[in-house]
Amino acid sequence: MQLSIHFSLEELIASDKAKSLAINNVPPDFIVERLKTTAAHMEEVRDILRSPVLVSSAYRCLLLNAAVGSKPTSDHPQGYAVDFTSPAFGGPIKVARELVAHLSGWDQIIYEGTWVHISFNPRMRRQVLTKRGDGYLPGLVEK
Ligand SMILES: [Zn+2]
Repeated sequence: MQLSIHFSLEELIASDKAKSLAINNVPPDFIVERLKTTAAHMEEVRDILRSPVLVSSAYRCLLLNAAVGSKPTSDHPQGYAVDFTSPAFGGPIKVARELVAHLSGWDQIIYEGTWVHISFNPRMRRQVLTKRGDGYLPGLVEK
């Protein structure tokens, strides 16, 4: 099922971890609707980067979310968050900088080191963080 021109539902729910643990990571309908909005925002991300976006993890049911060590308050089980890279554009910090400079709105952009976490929770706080150890630093900080 296609959610937007470049993003499918399958891509936004895919998980090797879910497969290996036999977790059914199929979202309820209201989350699918939310993922359409998330996909629309990711089209803007793709337009800004003018490069393909490789999604490593988007929707995670609570069971899968716990299995990957993420907090239950994460935006992933809500269908708002996407972890991704865009190797054709550049490394994750370059991607994060470009989005902070040009994206019309977001809730959180987190430079995670090897990927970018972006969330479109309707709070849309335009928060920018760098993951460091168990915590976060404000802004985009090179490792
Ligand atoms: Zn994430």
